[in-house]
Amino acid sequence: KEKKPAADEPAQEFKAPVLCILGHVDTGKTKLLDKIRHTNVQTGEAGGITQQIGATNFPDYALRELIAKLPNMKIDIQIPGLLIIDTPGHESFSNLRSRGSSLCNIGILVVDIMHGLEPQTLESLEMLRKRNIPFIVALNKIDRMYGWKPMQDEAFFTTFNQQDENARDEFMRRARETVIAFAEKGLNAALYYENPDPEEYISLVPTSAITGEGIPDLLGLIVDITQTRLNKFIKYSPQLRATVLEVKVIEGLGTTIDVILANGEINEDDTIVVAGFEGPICTNIRALLTPQPLREMRVKGEYQHHKSIRATAGVKISAQGLDHAMSGSQLLVAESEDVIPYLMEEVQKDVAQIFSSINQK
Ligand code: GDP
Repeated sequence: KEKKPAADEPAQEFKAPVLCILGHVDTGKTKLLDKIRHTNVQTGEAGGITQQIGATNFPDYALRELIAKLPNMKIDIQIPGLLIIDTPGHESFSNLRSRGSSLCNIGILVVDIMHGLEPQTLESLEMLRKRNIPFIVALNKIDRMYGWKPMQDEAFFTTFNQQDENARDEFMRRARETVIAFAEKGLNAALYYENPDPEEYISLVPTSAITGEGIPDLLGLIVDITQTRLNKFIKYSPQLRATVLEVKVIEGLGTTIDVILANGEINEDDTIVVAGFEGPICTNIRALLTPQPLREMRVKGEYQHHKSIRATAGVKISAQGLDHAMSGSQLLVAESEDVIPYLMEEVQKDVAQIFSSINQK
């Protein structure tokens, strides 16, 4: 696990994995995302955790600081960071697809420890399984155990060890009940630090989205899994993999598409092809945009322009003719005029699939 990359290996070997958050309503998905986004990292000032289009970028050095809090895990971070999709839930997850496979590398399934498995927990499980996406469970709201004494942003063991017996017992009882509930669905699950075989057992990570307890464990485990079990899926490759997460009208820009770039590179002036409600759309990128870095208020305009953007990233594309673009479409780049008809046919193949996933809701 502690394997260091050889000195001559290129620094860009890994791309940031794409992380999605799923789960039943009110389990704390939004709150968890919010907490992760506002995680206090010392190095945070310049270029720390940044807001991208439709996603939050959590860079390697912020991860390093967080993981340093873990008494029970040593991880040598090799990924450049994590890209966490900002809209938790089914819809964005369904939209993260290209060429038949998901752009989401790993999922967090949020379960409320007070409620156990709920209907949308099971739906999310089904979606993750169907797409073959590895995931871990955030067993959330541990701060609600009776008598729990919160320790802001600490690793689970650090806080668990200083709880009194009643709070610990209640936690253990509820964790056990969750394991049983999974077993009743035919799934093996275990608290992550007791997991006998992560390939066979779902890892449960106790968290609180309010106090931040367990978040170091949650992200630490994500880093560990992506680097060990998923390493071949998170290598940077020039082969473009991008998908339209949302279609939005922006004042002054007209209709824009928010795109998750999971691999490869997009350039200003590229000719792109996406699926549309009135047939495939082929257009030239007018602007490649990301939000202005925080506190750069002196810079005019809400967005920063780019000549070129490399995976992994969330980016807004402004171009003509995007009015009827379809979220969930893959985005392709035409290297020459000749391939455009082929690419148009290609993107439109997804339309049936997109409609069927809309109808499933
Ligand atoms: P979502 O529907 O899954 O996105 O759930 P939200 O993030 O909106 O949370 C639902 C409610 O649960 C809100 O009132 C949150 O403040 C609360 N909540 C979320 N996470 C926690 C947690 O870890 N502890 C406690 N005590 N409340 C939480």
